[in-house]
Amino acid sequence: MQKIIVTGGCGYIGSHTTVALQNAGYNVVIFDNLANSRIDTLDRIAEITGTRPDFEHVDCTDTNAIQNAFAKNSDAIGVIHFAALKAVGESVQKPIEYYKNNLISLLNILEQMSAFDIKNIVFSSSATVYGTPDTLPVTEQTPLQPATSPYGQTKVMAETIIRDAVAANSNLRAVLLRYFNPIGAHPSGKIGELPNGVPNNLMPYITQVAAGIREKLNIFGNDYETRDGFCIRDYIDVNDLADAHVAAMRYMEQMQNGTAIFNLGTGRGLSVMELVNAFEHATGVKIKYEITSRRPGDVPAIWACADLAKEKLGWVAKTDLSDTMKSAWRWQQNISEK
Ligand code: NAD
Ligand code: UDP
Repeated sequence: MQKIIVTGGCGYIGSHTTVALQNAGYNVVIFDNLANSRIDTLDRIAEITGTRPDFEHVDCTDTNAIQNAFAKNSDAIGVIHFAALKAVGESVQKPIEYYKNNLISLLNILEQMSAFDIKNIVFSSSATVYGTPDTLPVTEQTPLQPATSPYGQTKVMAETIIRDAVAANSNLRAVLLRYFNPIGAHPSGKIGELPNGVPNNLMPYITQVAAGIREKLNIFGNDYETRDGFCIRDYIDVNDLADAHVAAMRYMEQMQNGTAIFNLGTGRGLSVMELVNAFEHATGVKIKYEITSRRPGDVPAIWACADLAKEKLGWVAKTDLSDTMKSAWRWQQNISEK
């Protein structure tokens, strides 16, 4: 079985991707420091797939520890690099921590890939690199704009670092995946997103209101120049996103050297209110909300053109929105019980 190193594999997207990789026949070893995840995720993955992924409790910023972890897994054919800090607001308060964690991790990974001649890297980038786009939907050719937070800037810088590393090393291939807004959970309800404290993101806030943990949803602005006045995003099911990583790994096995970039979204923009309505419709649970002022830094509207991923990776987002709402709610109910 081909082995893949998954950094940050105990986290939200990494755990779903580990499930997808194992189901596709890959052998997964997770590198994670558990900064934003829990060790029992490994058992949950085993309950879903029948196989507990191998695990290295390692901080990707620790050069020696990462070197040792790579030495033990030098037979890996590739790395999927999720490990990063991801809270936009926190990154404004703690820029050094964010640059250090996200960039030193990446540099260590690239250095060890080169040392052990591991050729393929898939990197978790984000739609945040497009800033406020001039045209919609955004394609991979849409010009990048200056990031509005240190977190976003780590993604812009990481993309550049990877491109430069690939240009200098004819043995290296990279796929940069620009995620739009991942939501939902595994249909089993066994793995999902574990927000730390008050959620910043819309979907976990909605499910926490539904569970009675928060009194009401604050909707940040209804006076945008969009079809209903609310912000528009491209919400993508996390299981679909996970599948795209399997497709990317397969693609890299036959790809020429270089860096490929793919948007991962549904191609459909939904407003905040449309998402709230979809949740209520799918689950039968009403969401109390209040319209408040705009959140600084929010982009009025962004959604993906994901045609390139369809053409090159043979991948499309296929999960029905109501199934995504149900899985998010199932997961919330499971964690609320604990
Ligand atoms: P997450 O916080 O759930 O998972 C990240 C994992 O990385 C966690 O398990 C954490 O413990 C681990 N980690 C962090 N720093 C580490 C380090 N130095 N060494 C080892 N492990 C470390 O986040 P997620 O939502 O699964 O995001 C995964 C990736 O996707 C991140 O790179 C994130 O920036 C990117 N991304 C996420 C979203 C989103 O909305 N969730 C959108 C776009 C891009
Ligand atoms: N949003 C909201 N209330 C919340 C959280 C988010 O109205 O409590 C809105 C936010 O203004 C944005 C959309 O939901 O328009 C998605 O926000 P999220 O933070 O989930 O993703 P991102 O801003 O990264 O696209």
